[in-house]
Amino acid sequence: MKDKIKVKDKEFRVFIKAEDIDVAVSRVAASINSDLKGRVPLFLVVLNGAFMFASDLMKKIKVENNISFVKLSSYTGTRSTQVINELIGINEIVKGRTVVIVEDIIDTGLTMRRMLDILREQEAADVRIATLVFKPNAFQSDYKIDYIGLEIPNDFIVGYGLDYDGFARNLPDIYKIVE
Ligand code: 5GP
Repeated sequence: MKDKIKVKDKEFRVFIKAEDIDVAVSRVAASINSDLKGRVPLFLVVLNGAFMFASDLMKKIKVENNISFVKLSSYTGTRSTQVINELIGINEIVKGRTVVIVEDIIDTGLTMRRMLDILREQEAADVRIATLVFKPNAFQSDYKIDYIGLEIPNDFIVGYGLDYDGFARNLPDIYKIVE
């Protein structure tokens, strides 16, 4: 593993190593396994960023489950100022289910706020949030985040699913930007 990498025009330094990510993922899986014992949750993996976290997490999940992949699109509505988010790929029936949203990172929390609203509209019985990374100092919402892998300061990070301009998602370690 390289200590320093360049992604496009920016430099990044190694921040969280693969072994430490694995420990965090195992901890999240253990909490979910214990809390949801006897239930059959539907895991909704938010693409693109959460693909690697979800892949590692789901191998450690012992409760019976379904997995589906969703994407939150934003497009500008008929009025140019109006941005509408839509959840693409939600083909599973959410009504009455225990849903676990699997996300890569929660920053301001606004993206997740929208996901929660959509799932409430679809009458999910219990919605839980599992995020690999959380930035508590950036968070501007008030909902509970049930499962958090790692808490970090307000640094921009890449790797382990997270990108910079579409690059660096495949890296097994997490890197942070060198300012
Ligand atoms: P939020 O709505 O919570 O502010 O932002 C969530 C989204 O912003 C994430 O799903 C992710 O796409 C992006 N994001 C926030 N912080 C970072 C970061 O440090 N690195 C990367 N690569 N994306 C981030």
